[in-house]
Amino acid sequence: MIILLQDDFAGKNREKLLEALDTMGYRPESVEWQGEQAFRLHSNSAGIDRSLLSKLKGVREILPFSKVSSAGLESAGTVAVGEHRIGDGSLTLIAGPCAVEDESSLFTAADAARRGGAQLLRGGAYKPRTSPHSFQGLGPQGLDLLVRARERFGLPFVTEALDEDSFDRVEEVADVIQIGSRNMHNSSLLKRAGRSKRPIFLKRGMSATLEELLLAAEYVLDGGNESLFLCERGVRAFPDHARFTLDLSIVPAIKRFSRLPVLVDPSHAGGVAEYIAPMARAAVAAGADGLMIEIHQNPAAARCDGPQALLPEAFISLAEDLRAIHGVLRKVGVPT
Ligand code: PEP
Ligand code: MN
Repeated sequence: MIILLQDDFAGKNREKLLEALDTMGYRPESVEWQGEQAFRLHSNSAGIDRSLLSKLKGVREILPFSKVSSAGLESAGTVAVGEHRIGDGSLTLIAGPCAVEDESSLFTAADAARRGGAQLLRGGAYKPRTSPHSFQGLGPQGLDLLVRARERFGLPFVTEALDEDSFDRVEEVADVIQIGSRNMHNSSLLKRAGRSKRPIFLKRGMSATLEELLLAAEYVLDGGNESLFLCERGVRAFPDHARFTLDLSIVPAIKRFSRLPVLVDPSHAGGVAEYIAPMARAAVAAGADGLMIEIHQNPAAARCDGPQALLPEAFISLAEDLRAIHGVLRKVGVPT
């Protein structure tokens, strides 16, 4: 837990607050938190009464997370995948089909991902589907195809683990393990991810608040895995024009409270291919560290999420635009 102090709170008053917290058994430590003066509390924060602490003189804000920030992470917060570093100011692109369906469609998408300059290939072997009657993914066979695509196109891949069983299988072969929106609240899966040596790509629950997302991230960090990056993928609102509502305001919010890289997934957010390019461009302008975009050579025949898939050439052209926008932002000094 982090206690942010009022701006001008210093000297004797600060010492008094420190003492009071110490007497209450919280073992406070002075830290600089995202550029602000703060105390980090070390006792078991589950038992801490936030409303009581917020009444103490000098306390501006109380945050239930501590590891996600610059004061909490031992690493720089960037995530290494091979030679590439996610979150170092460069633009990360992840692209590929929603689900691994067969060799031919996976390889066509992987080829487009590579030609478009993506650093990672995506593709679900284990699919979280709303209906039990929908295609559930090829499972281990899908993982084998992803391994072959990596060999053939030289792209590392990210794929989703649905539960602890599939986590073990995915962990053996994947470069990055995805925890999807429907599993963001699955604390046992998050703990399993915390014990992994692989980078974790954690997507925001479709109804999750910033606090819930960052606390889910803390599970992974708390387990000892600091190779973690986040994804905004749209939240539930009341649109009749889109699948979900892309909440770009969470990008600066995540950056305000944490040092973790954040990507945006305009494919699942909009659910409509035509919305992907404008939303992706907006995401780069909002400061996202990268994008994850779905590609399919024949969207009408896709076994999963066809309506939101970009054709290979459309992805390649969009990727070029995104890099151009990113370049302009850097040039004019906008933080990227
Ligand atoms: C996915 O990226 O494959 C996926 C299922 O997305 P989400 O978890 O955001 O629905
Ligand atoms: Mn999908």
